[in-house]
Formats: sequence, C-alpha cells, structure tokens
Amino acid sequence: MSRLELKGTPVSPGVGLGPAWIIVDPSARQSPRRTLTEEAPEAALERFEEARALAVEDLQRIQAATTRELGIQDAAIYGAQIAVVQDPDAHRAIRKLILEERLEPESAIQALIDRFEGLFESLEGGEIKNWVADLRDPWLCVVRELESVGEELLDHDGGPGPVAVAEELTPSLVTRHHRHPLSGIVCNRGGRFSHGAVLARSFGIPTVTGLDHVHSKAISGEQLVVLGEEGRVLLGVDSREKGIAERLAAEREQVQSVLLEAATRPGATADGTPVAVSVNIESPQDLAMFDPFTTAGVGLFRTEFAYMERPSFPSEADQTEIYASILEKFPGKPVVFRTLDIGGDKQLRYFKHPKEANPALGWRGLRLSLEWQDLFLMQVSALLKARQFGDARIMLPMVTTVEELRLARDLIAQVCAGKQSIPVGIMIEVPAAAMALRELAMDADFISVGTNDLTQYLFAVDRDNPWVADLYQPYHPAHLRILRHIARTCGAVGKPVSVCGEMAGQKTGALFLAGAGFRHLSVAPPFVAEVKAILREVPIEELRRLAHAAAASHTSTEALNILRNAADHYWQGIVQRAVSSSA
Ligand code: PEP
Ligand code: MG
Repeated sequence: MSRLELKGTPVSPGVGLGPAWIIVDPSARQSPRRTLTEEAPEAALERFEEARALAVEDLQRIQAATTRELGIQDAAIYGAQIAVVQDPDAHRAIRKLILEERLEPESAIQALIDRFEGLFESLEGGEIKNWVADLRDPWLCVVRELESVGEELLDHDGGPGPVAVAEELTPSLVTRHHRHPLSGIVCNRGGRFSHGAVLARSFGIPTVTGLDHVHSKAISGEQLVVLGEEGRVLLGVDSREKGIAERLAAEREQVQSVLLEAATRPGATADGTPVAVSVNIESPQDLAMFDPFTTAGVGLFRTEFAYMERPSFPSEADQTEIYASILEKFPGKPVVFRTLDIGGDKQLRYFKHPKEANPALGWRGLRLSLEWQDLFLMQVSALLKARQFGDARIMLPMVTTVEELRLARDLIAQVCAGKQSIPVGIMIEVPAAAMALRELAMDADFISVGTNDLTQYLFAVDRDNPWVADLYQPYHPAHLRILRHIARTCGAVGKPVSVCGEMAGQKTGALFLAGAGFRHLSVAPPFVAEVKAILREVPIEELRRLAHAAAASHTSTEALNILRNAADHYWQGIVQRAVSSSA
C-alpha cells in the first residue's frame, strides 16, 4: 500500500514512476539571509558568475532543443529568461549585495527576488503572480546551479528518471527534461494553462498540480507514481503498486498504436452512429500537440489566452493574424472562436478589474464584452477579417438571457454590415440558460455546453476552490439530467449542439454524452484519440442504456460507478487487442 495518496489537478496525461526528486525552491525556504563567513566575497562573486554562465548555457540549450521539437513560438520564453538573468541592473544589484553586504550568492539572489515581489505586491490580479514567476523562475535556475540539490538522483543509469516534486510548475522545471529525463512532475502550484503546463503536455511528461504541500509530504528518493489523467499521485509505493504502474505505463505505450489508428478515422460508435470529435485549444502553440487531420475542427478556441499572454491589448491586426494562423491549419473544417471570456479567475494584467465580492458571479464573459463594446467590436472585426482563411464561427461565453444574446448579435451584425454573416453560437454554462434553452436556441446558430462552469453554477461550488472540491460533481445525476435535457431540447428545435467542457474528454463523460444524444464532443488535444477509440467500441443502444442508468442514479458515486465500470471494460478490450497485436 502506498504511504500516501494525493488528489490534485490533472495537467498532462500518462503514467509516471520514479524516485522523488525534491526541488528546493529558495523562495519557499524560510531560512534567514546568510552572510559569508569563510568564503571571500570575491570568491563568492566568482561562484555566482560561474553559476549564472552555466544557467545561461543551459537555457540556451533548452531554447535550441525546444525550437527544434516544438517551434520558435514555444521557445520564445527562454529568450526572455536569458534576458532576465543577463540584465545588467540585476547583475549590478547582486554584485553589490555580495561584495558590500557580504551575502552568500543564493541569499543575494533571494534578496533580488524579494524586491521583485515587493514591487508587484501592491498590484492586483491573478496574472501578476505569473509575471512575478516569469522574473523569479530564471533566477532559480542560477540558484540550482549554485546548489545542485539532489542531482545525484538524476544519474539513474538507464532506470526511470526521477519525478520532480516542486513548489511551482515553471517552464524551466519542465525543460530540465532535456538534461535529465523526468518520469513525471508533481507540484503544489501551477495552473492548467500556465506556460509550464503547456510545455509539460507538449513533452508528454505526466504532470499533476494543486497538490497541497506535496513538497513537504514527499520523501527524497522514495518511489512515486503519477497518474496524469486522474490527477492522482501515490507517495511511497510498494513493489506491488510499482509493478501495476509499470504495467499501466507499458500498456499505454502499446495502446498508442491503436489510438493513432482510431484517431485517423471519423468519430463514430461501434455500429456507425457518427459522433464528431473536435479539439479545444488556447493558442497556436497547442497545434504542436496533435495532427489537425485527426479532428473534426476546433470546437472551442479560448481567445482570452491570446490577451492574457501579452503586456497590453492585442491590436486588431495581431488578433487577425492569430485567428488566421489557426484557420489555415484546419482547411474545410469549422473553427469556433469563443469571444473574450475574462473575469473570475482569468484576469488581464493590464486591465484593473473592479473589486467584486463574488467574481465568478460577476462581471465576466459576455457581460464584460457587452459593457466594453469597443473591445468586442474589434474582436468581431478581427474574426471577420480572418474568415477569408477558413470556416470561422463565433461563440459567446456565459450567456444568461435572450436580451444579452440579441444585443450581442446586433453588435456583430453592425460589424458584418454589407458582408457575409458569420454563424453565432452560445455556450450553455449558466443553469438558467440551460432551463430556458428553447427560447435562447431560437436566436443562436449553434450551442455548446461548458460543463466546467455549468457544474460550478449548478452546485454553487467554486471550480477552483479545494475546500469545496468534493461538492464539484459533474457526474451528479442533477447535472446528467440537465445535460440530457439540453441534448433533447436541441434535437427538438433542430439546433446543432456539442459539449466542450472537460467532461467530454473523459472516457466516462464521452460514453455518457454520446448515450445522452450528443453527436459532437470537443476535447483537449491529448484526449482526441482516446475518446474516438472508446466510442468505436460501444454500440449506440448500449450507450443509451448506460446514459439512462447513470442519469437515473441517486448519487454521483452510483452514476460514476456505472460509467467507470463500462469505460474500464471497453478500455480493457482496446488494451488487450493492442497487447496481443504487439506480442
Ligand atoms: C466550460 O466552462 O466548460 C468551458 C469549456 O469554458 P472554460 O473552462 O474556459 O470556462
Ligand atoms: Mg466556462
């Protein structure tokens, strides 16, 4: 039995097994400033210079490898990191701290990081934290060069690489992989959409974040298992669990060939009922993770990330370029661009949101676009211009009432004046919109269900709050019944409907949704092939029976058991075929 099991946020799928490599984060360390006792300040300065040069070399190596593997856009972050550690002002400050204040180099760097944090402390907004991390992360590379903490674990003589255990999921942590292959990454902090998360998925390193104090719970060198899809981490596993994890990892490898084959075929059930599978993406970089040919198009492009990654609002021309670059990759396939969905946990560093007592219930999504019409009109205009490159469609987030939808459509019609109109769809994320769908659907060209927010608002549970995470229940019969109601209503009024929340990318969720009547799912890139493969195993009547039984359950546990048993059964069929064909 494992010593401890932790549940966190699934960031990158796969099974990872290896010894825990605890990465000491100097910013998390409580130790006081250390002054030089035996070492001369000049020698300490030399040590710092050497470490800085090694860190720059390392970052340059990573930058070159990332450019080769993922392209120049993904690699750009390393150019910025190199500039941070080579900044002459920062260099002068550290030199002074070592030579005049006689601080140890590690403490001098920490003092510099403290200064950054002090500067940004008075500013508000979630993105500010990422900003500070962008400045802190490259300096931590220098500290690691100075300390080489736990590096002996990295000489693993052909055995599995270590599982990095860190405070925060940063780009430099992920790309240590180039020097020392990592079997997995587990962290206390790090958003699903952070740079680090995008890179972890791109490199295929199983990763879980949101693990409270994992840093102090793991023991250096003990065996850890990372279950990336489930967001589970087992600490201190015994030989039996180690064997199970090894078998799971080997099966995953073998299953890849079956998945690749399934991915090239159109999405359908075992008896040929079509279920299209599109992809959800956040930025053009995501295109490195999959082949657009394997998808039915883009079911959700979250445009806000293009705004969040920048220091100021993107111009109309910038936006057109981004949208066109996506459309060009999906010739003949629909690409659904969701208009700006900020507010709540997604903030822009250059826009000061008013302080709200309940941001998730406040000024976010379409509500903000209708208030800030210039910005909305500019985005619509950029989308219309990008249309010459492909089949662009507009989707409105957080729609609550018919009046909002009509106003948004009037604004879009103003921009379209005299030009060909563009299909306008709505996201169903608010329970009131789900219950009054018949009326909303009359004014919409298509519908997409955002189960992430729909669950949050249905259960009155903040989707990011670990204190109430147990009540966030996408498989609760109440949510399953609403989903069935949405599928039926759209069928009755003849409006195309899809599901683009996380649930669509889970095997259990895909089985339920197809059985409940949805014929279009949109999922994150790592799940396209899996969802297509499992749906191909099950006849439509069986899917209907499963969906009915799950929705008729009394509790989430009951519903989830029904769906999980079915998913495990059909998945085992795929695994066995893969194993026997590779034997
Ligand atoms: C959703 O709410 O399900 C959704 C797809 O949107 P987001 O996760 O970006 O809020
Ligand atoms: Mg949402």
